[in-house]
Amino acid sequence: MSSLSKCFYEASAGKTCRDLWHPGFASCRHYIWDLWKRIMPGSFKLYIPLLVLPPLVKQDGVTGSYLVNHFLEYVYISIATYVQAALSLTFQCGFSNLFGYLNFWCVMFWPCLLGVLLGPRLPKQHLRLQGITFFNMMVETMIRKNRLGIVQHLRVSRWFGMLSFMALSSIIMTKLHAGIVKQFWLINPPSWNKPDHGRCGHKKSCTHNVLDGMLKYASVGLILESVRALITKFPLLMTNRSQFTTEFTKICSARLGLFLAFYVGIYRATFCLLNRHRLLEGPTQSTVAGFLAGSAYWLYPKYQVYTLAFTKAIEMSWEYWIKTGKKIPPVVEKFNRLPFVFLAQMLSFGYLGHIYAFHPQLSPSFHIKAMGFCSKNLTLNMRRTLIAWIIGYGA
Ligand SMILES: [Zn+2]
Ligand SMILES: [Zn+2]
Repeated sequence: MSSLSKCFYEASAGKTCRDLWHPGFASCRHYIWDLWKRIMPGSFKLYIPLLVLPPLVKQDGVTGSYLVNHFLEYVYISIATYVQAALSLTFQCGFSNLFGYLNFWCVMFWPCLLGVLLGPRLPKQHLRLQGITFFNMMVETMIRKNRLGIVQHLRVSRWFGMLSFMALSSIIMTKLHAGIVKQFWLINPPSWNKPDHGRCGHKKSCTHNVLDGMLKYASVGLILESVRALITKFPLLMTNRSQFTTEFTKICSARLGLFLAFYVGIYRATFCLLNRHRLLEGPTQSTVAGFLAGSAYWLYPKYQVYTLAFTKAIEMSWEYWIKTGKKIPPVVEKFNRLPFVFLAQMLSFGYLGHIYAFHPQLSPSFHIKAMGFCSKNLTLNMRRTLIAWIIGYGA
């Protein structure tokens, strides 16, 4: 038994879900009835950016039917998330009553996992977005939590981060260039990727091709950063304009834009050079260009970008292998039929829930925010109580 779980059992001896979750309600039934009513608006609030942003950035015209469908989808995913959250909170009491005591793994881990398993499923595209985002946050947390000396050393090494990102970027660009795997990544290989006697297929000069990409990607980075800063500081905009301006400029950084601009710039410049000098052919051009472009990671060494590249490289290599491999072993074919994204979502919800309660210092900030919204701070209050128990016990 780990020292943390031992400490938890000793600190929570004789206590029930009422002490941990609902000191204001004598019976679980009343509390559960109340929470199902109380937390409903939370997920609607959480998904407001998903409601507002897509119509704003949609390029091929916004029609009435698009808006209606978009709104209905927003309502559906909000309700699905609400039911998942309410089920998870209900299971917290359920397990406590089932065992007659508070079980270490049945505080957060199993209830969060089961909430996703038994609640309504999100539509495919949203499931993918959420599953991969949460899976990436889980990988990030696991790396930060790992106590192995070598992992701790590599985690903070900027050189290791950059070099391994270059390798991941190289894998991703090679697979995309081969045209068999079609998935989202920061950039796409040029559609004119067949060399034509040392001439590039883009319309204007190579310099224009590189600079045009850099400018566009820098603007995308700036827009994304501004939207992020706006959403984070939105309450201040309503109450205190001058403080909003100060805080907004403080957190809105140009680094993401710089990273994206250099990523696309180095990739395109290398690609044009290789092409004009007739060096290498086909996907190997992207292997080299993608590798060098990865050095832009030095400008923006963020977990979110790293874990995205990490999961994308694995996902794309796997898909490429399944689609092109001559002899795929039957066991791999069976394995490939598993609903990976759903499993990733379920497992990461359980794991991050556990981290939220027992290793709060490692919780990703987006996860803390989502938990606060979806449970109307019920999880936050629980965590405070839990920390007080453990500190009180240790004192
Ligand atoms: Zn209860
Ligand atoms: Zn060119």
